[in-house]
Amino acid sequence: MQYIELNTKTALNKLKRKIPYSWDLNIYRGCNHGCKYCYAIYSHDYLNDGNFFDKVYYKKNIIEALERELSSSDWKREIVNIGGVTDSYQQIEKELKIMRDVLKLMIKYKTPVIISTKSDLILRDFDLIDELSKITYVNIAFTITTMDEEIRKKLEPNTSPSLNRFNALKKFKETNASLGVHVMPIIPYLTDNKENLEEIYRLSSEIGVHYVLPGTLYLRGKTKPYFFNFIKEEYNNIYIKLIDLYKKGGAGKEYKDGLYKNINELKQKYNVSSNYMKIIKEKLF
Ligand code: SF4
Repeated sequence: MQYIELNTKTALNKLKRKIPYSWDLNIYRGCNHGCKYCYAIYSHDYLNDGNFFDKVYYKKNIIEALERELSSSDWKREIVNIGGVTDSYQQIEKELKIMRDVLKLMIKYKTPVIISTKSDLILRDFDLIDELSKITYVNIAFTITTMDEEIRKKLEPNTSPSLNRFNALKKFKETNASLGVHVMPIIPYLTDNKENLEEIYRLSSEIGVHYVLPGTLYLRGKTKPYFFNFIKEEYNNIYIKLIDLYKKGGAGKEYKDGLYKNINELKQKYNVSSNYMKIIKEKLF
């Protein structure tokens, strides 16, 4: 692994979309979680550096930039999505602890946040997240794609085991944060079986998360060949079927209709909503 310091002029990035958030903040470029379906591989293109998983850039001066932006009279305390491109709680964060300083500033400037991660390292910052959740809106979203540890280790090698992610969500129930599970991406023929999805919905319901958001695999740019090479090597039995299904970026309607029929049954059975806006509106507006 190689870690390289990057200078940044800004911490907050304005997005074109408005709802549910219009700002994002990413401490890292590159991510050593190593997910085989990673959509963010493209974000290394502008650095002319294809080594997304083994060369991670970190914005060491992001805290100064963030304080400048949050203390500005122009700042309207809108929701900031933290870690929407690359995971803020990847390995190097253990050492750098940049997220702790980010959260302290969010508390100081009463700024609502959404934090998405696949790592239970987030529990290190439980105290700050708890404090922030008492002041303003906080959403903790864990991406959980599979309950099969053998698949998880191959598919998302450096992430926390899925059960640890559920345990972290359980712990965050003690805070005022809203909680979500992102079942994304659902990988056809690998993680789309009913047993897997049912276990994710069952555990989400047991914990009482506020929403579960499913999404099927979408493949674009460099992610597509990277992902298919992985499938060919590790799950050759589904390779041809997947190639056939992914003639375009997404799976076809027929496949999705079948999948969402199962998902809707699970939503009803476990009384779990996929409406992530409801809790935002209740808490923020
Ligand atoms: S955690 Fe996200 S950014 Fe990191 S490798 Fe996985 S998909 Fe990519």
